[in-house]
Amino acid sequence: MSAKLLREIAEGLFPKNFTCDLCGKETFDDTNLCPDCRKKVTFNDGAACPVCGRKTATNELCIECKAHAPVFDRAVSAMVYAEGGMGLVLKFKRGAAYMKDGFADMLEPKCRPFEDVDGVCFIPMTARAERKRGYNQARLLAQELAERLNLPLLPVLIKTKDTKEQKSLTRRERENNLKGCFAARKSEVEGRTFLVVDDVMTTGATADEAAATLKKKGAKAVYFAFIASVEYKKEI
Ligand SMILES: [Zn+2]
Ligand SMILES: [Zn+2]
Repeated sequence: MSAKLLREIAEGLFPKNFTCDLCGKETFDDTNLCPDCRKKVTFNDGAACPVCGRKTATNELCIECKAHAPVFDRAVSAMVYAEGGMGLVLKFKRGAAYMKDGFADMLEPKCRPFEDVDGVCFIPMTARAERKRGYNQARLLAQELAERLNLPLLPVLIKTKDTKEQKSLTRRERENNLKGCFAARKSEVEGRTFLVVDDVMTTGATADEAAATLKKKGAKAVYFAFIASVEYKKEI
């Protein structure tokens, strides 16, 4: 049988039936968003804050970072957490594990400039919360990014207590809610630089708590990669 015929049979059995990640309509090509839904996603590839990576109007330090210098060293994010970007993150959290590939496509080039990273880790869930959901989406994406960046996956952060949903809390309440919720072992952290993966950055309070935990145990530098972050001017 010729190679051409084999390919035709394979294409007949497994047609390139790609669908839109947001609305489920066929896209008829290898993109994961239909033209209408693509318009609803704001990709974070223009001006951004050089520290927290949030989309900004100019490449200057955002108001959040000026008011409150983050504990982490730098962060990047692929999309703005609003409309389509929010929809994509929610779908990933609800079980669409395959979406890690598309997110890694966007984050990999943004993470390459981080120097001297010793390993990739992720924001953990408590064992109970992970059992309930079935998987930790941040771990999936961290694994994918680690492979692509040729770095080891180092799951050095441990979640020690359940925390309330951050959404309805004020900044002060968020900080108290998170206080002491992570742990790490000095022997696994000291002298190392980490790239930490999480799904969303809103105020950055979770990222700061994780970075503070790692730095207290002697981490040299802590970078973050988020699927999406809120624009600095928008309070969530
Ligand atoms: Zn669509
Ligand atoms: Zn910033």
